[in-house]
Amino acid sequence: MQTIAYDATVGIIGAGPLGVEFAIALKQAKISYLQFDQGQAGQMISNFPPETIFFSSSEKIAIAGIPIQNSDQQKCSREEYLAYLRSVIMQNQLKINSYEEVNHVEKTQHEGFLLKTLSSRGVAKYRIQYLVLATGGTSKPRMLHVPGEARLHVSTKLEDPHKYFQKRVLVVGGKNSAAEAALRCYHAGAEVAMAIRKEHFDPNDVKYWILPELLSCIAREEIRCYYQSEVVEILSDSVLLRKKDISSSIDVPADFVIKAIGFEAEMKLFHQLGIPLIEPQDSPSYNEDSMETTVENAFVLGTVAGGTQKKYRIFIENTHTHVFKILQTLCAKLDIKEPSLGWQQQCIQESSKRLEE
Ligand SMILES: Cc1cc2nc3c(=O)[nH]c(=O)nc-3n(C[C@H](O)[C@H](O)[C@H](O)COP(=O)(O)OP(=O)(O)OC[C@H]3O[C@@H](n4cnc5c(N)ncnc54)[C@H](O)[C@@H]3O)c2cc1C
Repeated sequence: MQTIAYDATVGIIGAGPLGVEFAIALKQAKISYLQFDQGQAGQMISNFPPETIFFSSSEKIAIAGIPIQNSDQQKCSREEYLAYLRSVIMQNQLKINSYEEVNHVEKTQHEGFLLKTLSSRGVAKYRIQYLVLATGGTSKPRMLHVPGEARLHVSTKLEDPHKYFQKRVLVVGGKNSAAEAALRCYHAGAEVAMAIRKEHFDPNDVKYWILPELLSCIAREEIRCYYQSEVVEILSDSVLLRKKDISSSIDVPADFVIKAIGFEAEMKLFHQLGIPLIEPQDSPSYNEDSMETTVENAFVLGTVAGGTQKKYRIFIENTHTHVFKILQTLCAKLDIKEPSLGWQQQCIQESSKRLEE
């Protein structure tokens, strides 16, 4: 039988918190791997609005059990977590092929996979034996699918709040990110309006420490809120809204529009491999004991296991266990001894505690 020269035993697609944690596990198991990210390590977190505070407490989002320390002992900010992630990568001497997107993957006639990537250096091909898809659940912003959505003053998230000072901002969305964006713009000196589809804010959708302040700002008319309203069109300096109870549309002035309506998972690579996706979230089919998908030797890791989550149930904190399940399966397939990871027990304990909503 022909012997295949693999570039590495494992290919990890994605260097978010879980991809990085898995790379540490492979390193400790002395299994060779290549890791790719279409952006920088932790790209999705880097995409958060500046100074976003994590909902999870620090010990739940720690990587490979390495403690997170910050100056105020509160939950981590985006900036603190990214600095922590860089330290974790440096400390463990991980090599990440950043800014190298895997845009094609196929199972070869032999047992492995062929990956095709694109980076500023051009197109490259890699052969790997086992594949780990850690591409996350929030790659693509949701779209409103209305005229004017591509205008330059429309963004898919809150940017530096200074940008909105003394400007009219319409925030579209009724969940946590929208509530936070509206409050931060208001405190930064913007004139803020919100458009939400529901007739009220659902307490399950907005964190309990954010909702009271938002509702009191709305009650005091510091923030205007258009309930039961949908965007019809975004114009150069206003937005047309359709309210459920009236036939004519409302023209809301806006210098900036922030669409805080969530994100979707990009499942292109799953389609290419023929991994079935389960409605309604397009979550991939996999074995919960091993995390192996219906395609032999292809595994799913981290939040991508939930596809596009309507209500977030799969977080960093309850996906650490994926790392150990995949490692165990890989070691068995490779017929090598599974290493004892000092941090495994701690991660399992954190995962089994009550999930923070
Ligand atoms: C505002 C906000 C606050 C949040 N707060 C929390 C929280 O408190 N706790 C929590 O657990 N989660 C939180 N999340 C969700 C959090 O972002 C995810 O839980 C976490 O990033 C998931 O880690 P992951 O490694 O599974 O995937 P991701 O961090 O999404 O990483 C996936 C990586 O794969 C890369 N990638 C994707 N496709 C390709 C490709 N084709 N080729 C190469 N690379 C690719 C991406 O660039 C990305 O870096 C929050 C999200 C948002 C938006």
